[in-house]
Amino acid sequence: MTATVTHPISTTSNPAPATDERRAQVLGEPRFGTHFTDHMFMAEWSVGDGWQDPRVVPYGPLSIDPASSVLHYAQEIFEGLKAYAHPDGSIHAFRPYANAARMRRSAARLALPAVPDELFVGAVDALVRADAGWVPTDGEASLYLRPFMFATEAFFGVRAARRATFAVIASPAGPYFPGGVAPVEVWLSSEYARAGSGGTGAAKSGSNYAASLLPQAQAAAHGCDQVVFLDDVERRWVEEIGAMNLYFVFADGSIVTPELSGSILDGITRDSLKTIATAMGHEVVERRVDIDEWRDGVRDGRIAEVFACGTAAVVTPVGRLKWADGDVVHDAGVADCGRATVTRALRDELVGIQYGHAADPYGWMHQIVGGREPVAAVGGMG
Ligand SMILES: *Cc1c(COP(=O)(O)O)cnc(C)c1O
Repeated sequence: MTATVTHPISTTSNPAPATDERRAQVLGEPRFGTHFTDHMFMAEWSVGDGWQDPRVVPYGPLSIDPASSVLHYAQEIFEGLKAYAHPDGSIHAFRPYANAARMRRSAARLALPAVPDELFVGAVDALVRADAGWVPTDGEASLYLRPFMFATEAFFGVRAARRATFAVIASPAGPYFPGGVAPVEVWLSSEYARAGSGGTGAAKSGSNYAASLLPQAQAAAHGCDQVVFLDDVERRWVEEIGAMNLYFVFADGSIVTPELSGSILDGITRDSLKTIATAMGHEVVERRVDIDEWRDGVRDGRIAEVFACGTAAVVTPVGRLKWADGDVVHDAGVADCGRATVTRALRDELVGIQYGHAADPYGWMHQIVGGREPVAAVGGMG
């Protein structure tokens, strides 16, 4: 499974890229995941040959055998990370080696081959270089990168496929919530869990998302933006908000996030915020959080703020928790984070590092394209 890459990454430029006008139009109004760049990365793997022919090619439709196992047994995993333009014009990805490591863990769980770090980060670098003109330079926008892998063996047997494709595509991304950093209202799903004990919840697999779509639609039907998932065994412990991790800020300044249970996805944003919050002097605790502790804590003031976090949504305050016969409104439930001052401070620090407005003491930013002047101006150990 530790296949080595047999060739350097080749690049075939798109002979008919988007026009400058079209690109400017998309970049002037980036949404989330609706427009894609001129190129994509591809490589194929087989049991006998390992990873073959890593390449950047023009973006376009894939052709796969209808019997490919991904189409029947959902043997698929993905990642999500962003590339950011810094004020000096340089382009950086945020912690791509953390995504590479997680993709290896997801691959192991879904019986897919490991992508070596060198191939994962090399693919991201090569695609961002080819599509550097697609990295937004205004406001809080970035180039969202979506590495993914799927099983392509044409075979109906239920076993690990002997062929797979690894690809990376890219999409200019504006704010995930178009309304800006407005608080979200969340719906407590009492009927469904996102992932089960012993299942694939800790892996970033498309199948987990398929299972979350119905409860997400129910949340929307109740006027909420996102769904809150509890554990599947006791239906009591808070796990995630939609496809995001979450944090509770207590009135005493301590910060709590649900401990990784095996069915919670180990978010890189969650992990980064742990580091940032600790550096800001907060005590950060990972432990189980009972849904009643959330409801009662907000009501009696012990819990001051609740926020969701992930690469796409960054840090988003929760304004209200609703369930079948009640709700509780959070102080953050007014515009501009309201009194969610800790949420705002954590968000500002993370976003500052990502966009190169703040020093990067943790060496999180990975430079892909150089700037107009030496990057040493603000870069810490990055
Ligand atoms: C991707 C994901 C997250 C957030 O992870 P980040 O690395 O912070 O983007 C949280 N929960 C689920 C279910 C996810 O798929």
